[in-house]
Amino acid sequence: MGRQIIGRLVIATHNPGKLSEMRELLALYGVEAVSADALGLPEPEETGTTFAANARIKAEATAQASRLPAFADDSGLVVDALDGAPGIYSARWAGETKDFRHAMEKVEAGLRERDAFNPEQRTAHFVSVLCVAWPDGHTEESEGKVDGTLVWPPRGPKGFGYDPMFLPDGFDLTFGEMTSEQKHGLPPKGQGLSHRARAFLKLAEACLERS
Ligand code: IMP
Repeated sequence: MGRQIIGRLVIATHNPGKLSEMRELLALYGVEAVSADALGLPEPEETGTTFAANARIKAEATAQASRLPAFADDSGLVVDALDGAPGIYSARWAGETKDFRHAMEKVEAGLRERDAFNPEQRTAHFVSVLCVAWPDGHTEESEGKVDGTLVWPPRGPKGFGYDPMFLPDGFDLTFGEMTSEQKHGLPPKGQGLSHRARAFLKLAEACLERS
């Protein structure tokens, strides 16, 4: 069993979509989550070359700055036909203005360049690595993954980032068409579908008690 997460936790993200997902997940375990933004903490530069390294950089920097346990996720979309791109650069493909319509168009342009029009040529997965860091330097980590296919045009106004073009395997709705409960709800109500929910369930098993 990992070290237990009790009480108050800082969520080391400045992404409002991820913040609300993580907050909903943590609330099920009676953990009060404050955002790094609300505490006025700076966003560290993601200089790692893997999801795990970047999650750790964010969690450790926030734990040190706040002197509270800190929870970070590094995640992204990994497209097989694009040799894993955008991967750890998923947020950066949207540019300074965080324009994900543009980022999705860039993915689609890459797929077209490779003549990837059939679903089996358009496979992808979302990955999430979660890291909790304590001010004394201890860390706990977990990884989750969800496989799917990329559709065009994008579908659905819900979710964030690349959600509207991601059709998870075994479903007719894209993440952009699913309710938050369908996308990342945990058992018994939801099925823990998203990469973040899957990583979260693993971490919860080790470090959290359901309230
Ligand atoms: P980072 O983890 O803050 O570096 O950002 C990861 C980026 O990956 C996000 O800004 C989104 O573009 C994308 N991403 C991660 N998780 C999801 C998701 O659940 N849906 C859609 N896009 C996601």
